[in-house]
Amino acid sequence: MGSVKIMGEELANRIAAGEVVNRPASVVKELVENSLDAGAGTIDIYIERGGSRSIKVVDDGAGMDREDLLLCLERFATSKLDDLDGLSRIGTYGFRGEALPSIASVSRMKITTRPRDEIEGWQLESKGGKVMRVDAVGCAPGTAVVVKDIFFNTPARRKFLKSEQTEMSHIAGVITKLALAQPGAGFRLTHNNRKVISCKPGEPMAERAASLLGKDLAGKLFSFARTQGMLSVKGLASPPHLVRRNALKALNFFVNNRPVRDRTLVHAVLAAYGGMVGEGSYPVVLLWIELPSDQVDVNVHPSKQEVRFHKSREVHDLVRQGIADSLAGSPWLPGRQEKGRVVYDRVTGEVQRMDSATVVE
Ligand code: ADP
Ligand code: MG
Repeated sequence: MGSVKIMGEELANRIAAGEVVNRPASVVKELVENSLDAGAGTIDIYIERGGSRSIKVVDDGAGMDREDLLLCLERFATSKLDDLDGLSRIGTYGFRGEALPSIASVSRMKITTRPRDEIEGWQLESKGGKVMRVDAVGCAPGTAVVVKDIFFNTPARRKFLKSEQTEMSHIAGVITKLALAQPGAGFRLTHNNRKVISCKPGEPMAERAASLLGKDLAGKLFSFARTQGMLSVKGLASPPHLVRRNALKALNFFVNNRPVRDRTLVHAVLAAYGGMVGEGSYPVVLLWIELPSDQVDVNVHPSKQEVRFHKSREVHDLVRQGIADSLAGSPWLPGRQEKGRVVYDRVTGEVQRMDSATVVE
């Protein structure tokens, strides 16, 4: 065995790329999260050939000056974290400073960017992570990142890319999740010049749900909203006979615009429905919670998406009450004889047996 050496930056980036970038959808996720972190109001995503030919993300966010542009391809360069104490209260998606250098190391990248208060912008081109040129250019405020020929220098990994449609469905999944998490921002996703997703900035949550989940399903959801002091809970929920078998697909929780998984929230939702949904079935719920960032800790592990509420009882009860009250006001109420097995529609008098619940995919 040879002697111990510190690995070079290029090799380190390519190894990190193996974790951060496993397919075009993960590139899209990192780029769009950066746009959101930069305060973008609208984000355009253009994909060619399922992302294997090109991925372009254009935002109207804060942009970068020349110095930041050069720094952003350096490993561990981030504008989002100053000290370890801030780690559990992090409000941004990114903070590790790994995504751009990792993506750059396995692609040809072009970044065009301009801070809002500057009259000219900058453009950088890199190949396999090496900066080829940086020029002043005229461009709109904000940032456009183009990633071409992903994995061109790691052919073994390029071979693992699946069909255009498969890669594209992963990309659409990523955008759907982020567009639900950030209803204030606009998103447009285009594949081979065909529009796939289009959501207007700041549209009502029912419209956002309609364009992302389909009009059929979204039209059947009822809305709820509750606030208590600095805690706000709102969202959309399905009637008890409209369920999914997959809890992760059914229950979509966002805390301060971050997708999360949380047992307390699952419990609160199911408690709101009482016995009305059968075992192994989950109502379709979109739940947005907002509270001051010092009242919640986020597990910064990017794949875990867990949170810990300091006042979890309060959050639980507000979610349960919010949904339960809306359910009570909806036409559905639980039947009596076989508690939990049937629900009545107050308007039509129709009886729906829960064992014949509609399962939506
Ligand atoms: P992180 O998001 O963890 O900070 P990245 O590698 O994703 O790391 O990005 C590095 C830095 O580049 C960010 O901290 C940010 O300062 C800058 N940056 C990246 N994308 C954008 C963008 N779309 N608009 C403005 N700044 C950006
Ligand atoms: Mg990032």
